[in-house]
Amino acid sequence: MTVHFPFENTYAALPANFFARVAPTPVTSPRLIKLNWPLAVHLGLDPDRLASPEGTEILAGKRLPDGADPIAMAYAGHQFGHFVPQLGDGRAILLGEVIDADGIRRDIQLKGSGPTPFSRRGDGRAALGPVLREYVISEAMAALGIPTTRSLAAVMTGESVLRETALPGAILTRVASSHIRVGTFQYFAARGDTEGVRQLADHVIARHYPEVATTERPYHALLQDVIARQAELLARWLLIGFIHGVMNTDNTSISGETIDYGPCAFMDHYDPATVFSSIDELGRYAYANQPRIALWNLTRLAECLLPLFSEDQEKAISEAQSALAEFAEVFNAAYQAGLRRKLGLFTARESDQALAQDLLDAMAKNQADFTLTFRKLSDAALGPDHDSEVRQLFGDPAAYDEWAARWRQRTADEPQDAATRRTAMRAVNPVFIPRNHRVEAVIEAAVNRDDFALFEELLTVLSKPYEDQPALSAYAEPPQPHQRVLQTFCGT
Ligand code: AMP
Ligand code: MG
Repeated sequence: MTVHFPFENTYAALPANFFARVAPTPVTSPRLIKLNWPLAVHLGLDPDRLASPEGTEILAGKRLPDGADPIAMAYAGHQFGHFVPQLGDGRAILLGEVIDADGIRRDIQLKGSGPTPFSRRGDGRAALGPVLREYVISEAMAALGIPTTRSLAAVMTGESVLRETALPGAILTRVASSHIRVGTFQYFAARGDTEGVRQLADHVIARHYPEVATTERPYHALLQDVIARQAELLARWLLIGFIHGVMNTDNTSISGETIDYGPCAFMDHYDPATVFSSIDELGRYAYANQPRIALWNLTRLAECLLPLFSEDQEKAISEAQSALAEFAEVFNAAYQAGLRRKLGLFTARESDQALAQDLLDAMAKNQADFTLTFRKLSDAALGPDHDSEVRQLFGDPAAYDEWAARWRQRTADEPQDAATRRTAMRAVNPVFIPRNHRVEAVIEAAVNRDDFALFEELLTVLSKPYEDQPALSAYAEPPQPHQRVLQTFCGT
């Protein structure tokens, strides 16, 4: 019984300097922790076979499936503003690409599968905790409707990895519409390899942006479209309270998916300055700073593409600037439209921006929980006698009352009835997010007690984030003061 992967490997067909051919390092005794059954089916893979001992060996890098052409991709990147000309997949190996049920090409990559020529001083491995964190949060993001890489499987390797202490080792099978990053472009640009930049750009256009191929200036249109997708992604992050934590250029996907879940986390009470990552001491990647950082990263991409725009450098720069100027427009439009949806507004008025901002300001001042405020506000759409749950989220409930009076005046001008507004609001304001204390509890139980029941339960509740699940309603609750997790750590 062999596991069949219908691989078609286009990245491995690019020139040899785009990657290093390297196979995963076999591990002693792999054990399947989780297989994402529906995702396997969507990818055209047989989940029964993947869950078999042979499938587990593949997911652990112990056995190579037929048709795989395993590579570690080369890339560079700005890490916290400092340029590193060579990073690359130091602990990830791309097995190959498959076409999913929607006709979209997907990379299948093992993360934590052993050293590669890009490992530098790293061991090429991953610990169980970060693998579970990425599994939970990426799948939660997908269920929330946010573009993201997916998690196909998690296996334990049976070996320990040495971090500050010895930890159980694990491998995540990650699925992405591609693993091409801003840093991939930087790798070639930093070497003055304009032909490499062009070949990469052509590959990206064919794979992710085919509609730009026939435009008058395809590379300029490519930059515009990457910018638009990132701007829309960043709006989605802010609207859901997500903090990536390590928005380096090597963690910025060209396809517009959320990628490289490290010390990421969701905000509990609303505070635009929220930072979780232990290594982000200056708050460079704080919640509200994220759009600015995305633009900074896209500016690095634009610099790489300049030689493709025009031989006239001034002309090339002005083309890049005009594309970058669109970021703010696309981001603001997406963010404001999203806020209007969160407030249950069906029409747009200029004053809506101030209405939304005043709620956010009141939430910040009153330590109101971000997710629950909008969820309970959805119920308050039925009328003031449904206010009690949302108003008690505010340190000073009067701050809510004042704002709610204005909100009701505004919604009263629209023809939709209260029930319609509530339904529309509940469809965009989730009740369940991967709260940090829950994620930490999952990791603690798995790592210290080999207990995966909490992991399974959290995945279940997060698979339907917009539906009330009365039996699991405790998962909607913010942490008690003693449960609050203030810092998250990188996967390395
Ligand atoms: P990250 O912070 O996970 O985005 O990783 C940044 C860079 O460090 C990438 O080039 C990774 O491949 C590399 N890296 C991270 N952890 C390890 C590890 N344990 N072994 C080898 N390389 C690693
Ligand atoms: Mg990374």
